[in-house]
Amino acid sequence: MAKTLITGATGGLGRAVATFLKNKTAAKDIAVLVRDTEGEKAQQFRAQGFDVRRGDYNDPSSLTVAFQGIEVLYFVSGSDIHARLPQHENVVNAAKASGVKHILYTSTVRKDESSSAPLHLVVNAHAQTEQWIQESGLPYTLLRHNLYAEVIPMFVGAKEQLLQSKTVYLPAGNGKTAFVSREDFAEAEANILANPQPHVNKTYEFNGSETLTFAQVAEILSGITGEKIAYTSPDVKEFEQALAGHGVPALIVGVVSSFAQGMANGEFDHKTNDLEKILGRKTTPAAEVIKQAYK
Ligand code: NAP
Repeated sequence: MAKTLITGATGGLGRAVATFLKNKTAAKDIAVLVRDTEGEKAQQFRAQGFDVRRGDYNDPSSLTVAFQGIEVLYFVSGSDIHARLPQHENVVNAAKASGVKHILYTSTVRKDESSSAPLHLVVNAHAQTEQWIQESGLPYTLLRHNLYAEVIPMFVGAKEQLLQSKTVYLPAGNGKTAFVSREDFAEAEANILANPQPHVNKTYEFNGSETLTFAQVAEILSGITGEKIAYTSPDVKEFEQALAGHGVPALIVGVVSSFAQGMANGEFDHKTNDLEKILGRKTTPAAEVIKQAYK
């Protein structure tokens, strides 16, 4: 069995991929990259027989050492959207220098790649990383993700707050998003890692089987809470000022607002069955993830 390394393994996606893959592959053939090798999550991996390796996207030499003997690299994009470019360049360079034979990268679906797009920062880092990977000459698989269904609460707010306002307040217009649960991404990508060869030099668009607008999210929330939840899509400036007025840090306001505008512009309104084919079923309805968060 080819030795696989999963980065971002202490995060929600990487950990779920490692767990799914362990059902198909011996844990000793799965390496996990962590920043803190003595932390609780690293210890749990070790106890299950995973090969725990230390590495930081900011530290190129740590990556070159961690990738020794690795054939298949599952590269989870960095979580600091302002630091991704140098970090991702480090990962791709280290993969090449260490003799990795196949790199799989968690990218994003997109439409507008122009510099004036609300999501330019995010899209540009993913597009640039895809380009570095392709230019490296390494066999690759690009896994373009739609939005996690788990991010919906970030846009809607906590249950208590929602029950008070009875409103989903977000400048996402009537934009449709093909949300995917993080578990579905993880299950599909573990399927690919268990038999990566047929996926070499493929680019997949992983979208949910159905799309939702935030008006529909409000209807789902009405059903869950038993209260009539309305949806208001305000002007962007008014929205940003309202969040800032509630003490939300500027960085968070910027992220939430730019994703909402992206959704309004239809950036995440995609229909492909790439994910269904790899899962062998329809994706989990986003309503189930919403239920878990607000029940
Ligand atoms: P997460 O739970 O925040 O996990 C991020 C992982 O990346 C953690 O394991 C973290 O390690 C690791 N990491 C961060 N900076 C690193 C660095 N400098 N060097 C090495 N590892 C580093 O995120 P997730 O939910 O698993 O999602 C995975 C990725 O998808 C995110 O990183 C982000 O790029 C992207 N994302 C996509 C969506 C979407 O809707 N499509 C939503 C959120 C995020 P530590 O435990 O050491 O911090």
